Amino acid sequence: IFVAIVDVTERHTARLELERLATTDSLTGLFNRRHFLLAAGRELKRSMRYELPYTMLMLDLDHFKRVNDTYGHSFGDNVIRRFAEVARGCLRDEDLLGRIGGEEFCAVLVSSGQDGGYLVAERIRKRWQEEAFEFQGARFNFTVSIGVACQTRDSETVESIMERADAGLYSAKRAGRNCVIVHGGERVEELLARHGHLL
Ligand code: GH3
Ligand code: MG
Ligand code: MG
Repeated sequence: IFVAIVDVTERHTARLELERLATTDSLTGLFNRRHFLLAAGRELKRSMRYELPYTMLMLDLDHFKRVNDTYGHSFGDNVIRRFAEVARGCLRDEDLLGRIGGEEFCAVLVSSGQDGGYLVAERIRKRWQEEAFEFQGARFNFTVSIGVACQTRDSETVESIMERADAGLYSAKRAGRNCVIVHGGERVEELLARHGHLL
């Protein structure tokens, strides 16, 4: 009888580290685009199987070119990092959040429909507006625009929901930024009338 004992701890640790690097965005520690899309797809399948709601938020920081131009790129990086923390803090542990572009983020809320998605998006928008930054003795704030879309049909894919959330985001930008638009949803005034007391 031959017994071979090999210590694989180091190899295992290295593999885990490689996995972490491949799935994580190094600036924010959030999921990177590729991994976020994979996770969002898995979650969509699960939501459909159990008939759970599935809601997506597309978030884009407002006038970010201006932020870089005025305060410098590394300050801009810090702003992106802080936004990731604020957004993560407004979500539940089981919700997904990824950095899918420079100053663009996407979230999937599990077990939240249109109204829940709107509430969470509004909370992120408000919290971010209140986050104070300092540069050479001056204090100021930044804003974010958010588009929301829910899974509505069985044929829906992550990409099709994303497209609608993106259309909501585009409308939010056109409406003057620093606001939330639910794609194909009720007017904001109606949602506010129903949920304003929760904000
Ligand atoms: P809008 O309100 O329409 O979104 O205006 P915007 O200036 O934010 O426009 P847009 O989203 O097109 O521009 C994004 C800018 O974000 C472009 C680029 O200079 C900056 N950016 C992208 N990635 C990074 C990054 O990793 N770090 C920093 N500091 N800036 C980035
Ligand atoms: Mg932007
Ligand atoms: Mg952008």
